[in-house]
Parts: sequence; C-alpha cells; structure tokens
Amino acid sequence: MPAREMYPAIEQFIDGRWVDGEAGTFENVLDPATAEVLATYPHISPGQLDRALDALSRSARSWRDTPPLDRSDIIRGAAQLLRERSEQIAFAVSREQGKPLHEARAEVHTSAEIIDWCAEEGRRTYGRIVPSSGDSRLMVTTEPVGPVAAFTPWNFPVLTVARKIAPALAAGCPLIVKASEETPAGAMAVVSAFADAGAPPGVVNLVFGVPAEISEYVLSSGIVRKVSLTGSVPVGRTLSRLAAEHDIRTTMELGGNAPVIVEPDIDVDEVALRCATSKFRNAGQVCNSPSRFFVHTAVHDRFVAAVQRFVRDIRVGAGTAEGTTMGPLANARRVDYVRKALADAVDRGAQIVCGGGIPEGPGNFVEPTVLTEVADVSTVFAEEIFGPVMPITRYHDLDDAITRANATTYGLASFVFTDSLAKAHRMARDLEAGMVGINTTVVSRAETPFGGIKASGHGFESGPEGVDVYLRRKAVLEHDPVAPGRGVSH
Ligand code: NAD
Repeated sequence: MPAREMYPAIEQFIDGRWVDGEAGTFENVLDPATAEVLATYPHISPGQLDRALDALSRSARSWRDTPPLDRSDIIRGAAQLLRERSEQIAFAVSREQGKPLHEARAEVHTSAEIIDWCAEEGRRTYGRIVPSSGDSRLMVTTEPVGPVAAFTPWNFPVLTVARKIAPALAAGCPLIVKASEETPAGAMAVVSAFADAGAPPGVVNLVFGVPAEISEYVLSSGIVRKVSLTGSVPVGRTLSRLAAEHDIRTTMELGGNAPVIVEPDIDVDEVALRCATSKFRNAGQVCNSPSRFFVHTAVHDRFVAAVQRFVRDIRVGAGTAEGTTMGPLANARRVDYVRKALADAVDRGAQIVCGGGIPEGPGNFVEPTVLTEVADVSTVFAEEIFGPVMPITRYHDLDDAITRANATTYGLASFVFTDSLAKAHRMARDLEAGMVGINTTVVSRAETPFGGIKASGHGFESGPEGVDVYLRRKAVLEHDPVAPGRGVSH
C-alpha cells in the first residue's frame, strides 16, 4: 500500500514522547464508509495521565518565559509542516472521518493558516500603561493563564485541534489535548507538527481514553487553569460544572442550529447554490453550518428547485474514492439520530422533495435530503441535526422570520441573503448569534472571533480574542521607591 494510504498506528504523546496507552481497555477506529477497523489502540492509564500532568506543570513556567518571537517561530514551523504533510494527513482524515479528500485537504490548509495567524498574534499580547501622577506608574500586564486542558470532537479532527494548540502556545500556555477517540490520526498529525517544529517536551500532550474519566481526572488535578472544549451542549455543561468546582476558566465552543433568511431581492438560483454547498459540506456535520432555511414565499419554489438540482449532482461515497462529493456520517449514532429526526419531520407534515433514504450498511451513509413545509417544532428545526438534511420553510413577513429564527436555544451563527443594506444591518443587529453572515455562509476566518451565545457557548477561537482567552491581566501599581531619608516623617 502506498505510504499516503497507510492509516497510522495510534499513540499518545506524553512529555515529548510517543507511547502506547497502558490501560487495559481499548478503542477501535472504524472506517465510516465500510465499518472496517482501521486501528485498535489502548487507552491512557491514570499513571500516564499523571506523567502528562507533571510535564504540563513543569513546562508552564519555561514556556511562559520563552521569548514570544521564539514561540512564534515554532508555531509557524508547525504550520509549514502541516502544509508539507497535507496529502498524507488528508488521506488519514478522510478515512477515519469520512469527508471527501478535497475537504480534508482544505481542512489541513485552513488549519495551517490559523496556526500562522496565531504565531503572529502571540507577539502582540500587549498590556497597557495607564496615565498617572509623576511619581507612580499604573500598568496592566498580560500573563498566560497557565496549563490548559483541551477537548476536541470528530467532525474536524485537524482544525479543531489546531485551533486549540496554536492560540494556547502563542499566549504562552502548555496543553493537554484529549482529542476524539474516533478520529485520532488527525489530532496526532497536528501534535506531530508542533513537536517536530520544536515545541519542547511537556508543552503539548495528546491523550485518548474514556472521555468522562479523563476530563474528571485532569480537571480535578489542581494543575489545569483553563479548559477549552469544542463539542456538544451536554458535554459543555458537564465540563463547565466540573470547571466551576475547581475554579477553572472555560471556553465553550458548542453546537449551533444556524438560521438562514432568504429575502426575495436576490439572485435566488445563486443563493440556493451557495446555501446547499455549505449545508452539505462534511455531510452537514459542521457546527456553524446553515441549518434552518427561512425562504421568502415569493422565491421559495425557485429556491427549492435550485437546491434539488444541486443535490441531484452530489456523489455520495467513501471520502477517499475518486469523484465523491459527500461522504458517510462519521459514526453510526449520527445515522440513528437522523433517521428518527426525518421520521419526526414527516409525521409533523414535512415533505421529502429529494433523498430521505438510509441505505443498509456497511457504512454510515445517508442520502442528501431536502425537506419542505417543515414545522418549526420538528426535531430537524428545533435541534441541531448534524447531518445531510436541509429543512426549508417559507415566510411572508421579515419580522416574523426574525422571531422564528431566534426561537432557539442555540446562538452560534445566523445567515442573511438580501440586496437591502438597511435590512442587512437590521438583521445583523437583531439576530441572536455570535456570528452573522450577510450574503455569505462563510463566518469562520483566522482573523475574526468564532464563538457562540446562549447554549452555543462562550469565549472565542480565532481573531485576537482567540488568543486573549488564554491570557489573564495583572494590575501592577508602582510608586517611586522610598529612598532612605526621603520617607514621610511623623
Ligand atoms: P458527544 O457529546 O457524545 O461527544 C462529542 C465529543 O465530546 C466526543 O469527541 C467525546 O470524546 C467528547 N466527550 C464526551 N463526553 C465527554 C466528557 N465527559 N469529557 C470530555 N469529553 C467528552 O456527541 P456526539 O454524539 O459525538 O456528537 C453529537 C453532537 O455533538 C452533535 O449534535 C453536535 O452538537 C456536537 N458536536 C459539535 C461539534 C462542534 O464543532 N461544536 C463537533 C462535534 C460534535
């Protein structure tokens, strides 16, 4: 088998060394297209977690005191290595996660771009000097928050890990990353790039095991000062509670259920194409993906017809197969969820205009599906579907559309398509989300803060804010020294 196509042996990275887990329990990594076992590996043991935590604790001060320019060189080096290794990494990610190769390649290159951006931003973690009287100085300094525990999901095995490691290292914090056990090769590739670029032993650690046991152990250790999770709302609540018990800061990048409002004053065919392209990317397993489509009744039928044409051309298959444009879902439990959500939507009056089929296995395939006349209370609308299902409803009145768009516990992203500047500005203000895309479905950029409100979480990744969440402020209030003989006499 050519080197590019070999799925790697899975190991943990502790204190600068790749090692096998030492627990008596094991994990199988499954190919979502075939259910074939790609790798079997042992979980991390408590003793190994102790070693990783010791390494983290030991490296906190030395990494903090490493000059930002030196840190920046290492971080930029990791980005370069990811680019050089992108073909091999993309292949492993496509196999373990299911996405088409071209999407996996794009994920690696986007990750490198974010890492590069953080490398530079780490050199600008300025404090400030506050005007004061002549004999005193008031300063606000920035310091790294300290050791970080990061938890990452399976939908973007490279990007989500890169978006934890790069800003934390840029701010001067060492990390322990518990990446998804289901997609470990992507995480290993990112950690390898940082290690090979010169990150000192202990500064980055990577572990796999039983998620709840690891988070409980690591957050209770007294060593970790910050936790950052990308994952589901329930796991976010669990980790937030645990962090609160141990006075640990949190960044929670949780799920979304993004509404899209399509006004009638646009090129409907083009907008439908952009919406569908974005919706079916990564088979719909994207937290900020457009999810609930509110289309003005005047353009509704044309919008649906254009989406149908797009969906007819989607080629479903294994991510690594030539010509595939949509892969399987990453795991079997997502297929069960989508099956139930489709049945619920139909029960509540939705019409399936294309797709709807879930082939017998092996493989977690779901046909790309378009639903119309979807009731707002149905699961596909009320919950995060995280699958290749595009639910569409119509509206007559923009106020009503905004109210319905905001009627969700989530608040990650919202999207608007309109030719009216006034309406665009109004919706940017009134839509309850951390990010609003106006005439675009792209809201994730290295330069801008990515984060949600309401149940979608708090804190940021990317942008200066994405580095800032790994910093704390210290007020330093300094007066001239009291030299001998110059003190106030009583
Ligand atoms: P899940 O919540 O069971 O697992 C998500 C991830 O969290 C996994 O990688 C798992 O290892 C980790 N995890 C679970 N329990 C944990 C714990 N106690 N401590 C630390 N880590 C823990 O969900 P799932 O079935 O894998 O995915 C379904 C939902 O996850 C989706 O509906 C979606 O909302 C969410 N999700 C969100 C993102 C995102 O980018 N925000 C990514 C993937 C999944």
